Amino acid sequence: MSDHTDIQPPIQTAGACDEPDCMQTLRDLDVFLDDEITPETRTSIRHHLDGCPDCEHAFDFHAELKSVIQKKCLDEEMPADLLTRIEQCFDTDLDGDGAVG
Ligand SMILES: [Zn+2]
Repeated sequence: MSDHTDIQPPIQTAGACDEPDCMQTLRDLDVFLDDEITPETRTSIRHHLDGCPDCEHAFDFHAELKSVIQKKCLDEEMPADLLTRIEQCFDTDLDGDGAVG
């Protein structure tokens, strides 16, 4: 017998963002930013970001970086080799050419 309800702890483990949920959220970031996800996945990512500052910061950084790079690409201000290195660093296709690097 227990009166435990389904209340979640208000704060997740502070510091390292290494929960499976976090890993999945970070993996989904690029897809999320590319608008290629289902509404369900989008909702679940947003929900996770709400309760997880680490992921939220990573998301903000990713989103900002991506928008800057896309702008630079459009303006042809981004040297190709620099873009390649950034893509490899993040293991992410930032310029939308379908390849990392
Ligand atoms: Zn997280």
